[in-house]
Amino acid sequence: MTKAIRIHANGGPEVMRWEDVPTPEPARGEVLIRHAAVGLNYIDVYYRTGLYKTALPATIGMEGSGTVLALGEGVTELEVGDRIAYAGGPVGAYATERVIAEDRLVKLPEAIGFETAAAMMLQGLTAQYLLHRTFPVTAGQTILVHAAAGGVGLILCQWAKHLGATVIGVVSTAEKAELAHQHGAAHVIVGQTNLAAEVKRLTGGAMVPVVYDSVGRDTFTASLDSLAPLGMMVTFGSASGPVPPVDVGMLSAKGSLFLTRPTLATYTAKRAELVAMANDLFSVVASGAVVIRVNQTFPLSAAAAAHTALEARQTTGSTVLLP
Ligand code: NDP
Repeated sequence: MTKAIRIHANGGPEVMRWEDVPTPEPARGEVLIRHAAVGLNYIDVYYRTGLYKTALPATIGMEGSGTVLALGEGVTELEVGDRIAYAGGPVGAYATERVIAEDRLVKLPEAIGFETAAAMMLQGLTAQYLLHRTFPVTAGQTILVHAAAGGVGLILCQWAKHLGATVIGVVSTAEKAELAHQHGAAHVIVGQTNLAAEVKRLTGGAMVPVVYDSVGRDTFTASLDSLAPLGMMVTFGSASGPVPPVDVGMLSAKGSLFLTRPTLATYTAKRAELVAMANDLFSVVASGAVVIRVNQTFPLSAAAAAHTALEARQTTGSTVLLP
């Protein structure tokens, strides 16, 4: 047997239960892993509430690090005892042990500890593709980052600064503003009112070529209004709720804007891309250009308390659950 957080119905944090479950057997191409650490991500809230669907009962969770315990048939790249990490579906990370396809795992370099790995794989790979592929950020650009003191946010701020960009962050409190500032945001706007006017002031009227918006419903229109003509609106999360259906005419009226709703799953679908992105992440973390802030840890059995804190906007940086 092993231990897992399972949900039998969608709902609030209280639907998560710490249960005994049979230890799964790795099928062909899969390995059994023991988690050293599990990452907490906002997507876990979407699966718990039912905004994203999965068959019930379910063990949620999309990210972890640990050690290979057993190999299924046909596994060629990994050995028992290898240190590994992963980010992405299928759900099942909130467990002491789980099975997962070999081709979704990456080997961890010695320099990256288990807690750092569990904290950064999903949020760091997301920052990697957002800054390099969704909209390739270049030196000299000024960009807008929402939830700048959050898990993805602190990584985006540091990495964008490393690329030579000027980051305008958006946060909800003065303490978070200070944190975002310490992690690379040149300017930080506190609160979401008058966002476009503040961006106009900070950019001398030029506005920004890209907005990375993970807040969703509450900030969508203000983000569009913060873009320069031909700017790219990257709406990549729904922390305040999903964005309602969009009138595409709005994109022409506001300056021939581009709009994308990217997901990590698309950008890591090909194994070669996953490995290249992970290597890029490992190298910026190993060089110290991006520091992974694990600002909260909870026992895995207390995942409900972690969700409550995340949804109440009480967390900063990354959060790790310990089995
Ligand atoms: P965060 O640590 O960023 O936590 C969410 C933050 O969102 C809060 O701290 C809060 O910051 C801000 N926020 C704004 N409005 C609300 C609201 N109404 N309720 C709660 N929080 C709010 O989480 P993650 O780093 O895990 O994820 C950030 C976002 O990125 C999420 O929306 C997630 O879904 C998305 N994401 C998308 C991916 C993709 O590939 N598409 C992959 C990874 C993450 P503040 O108080 O400063 O406003």
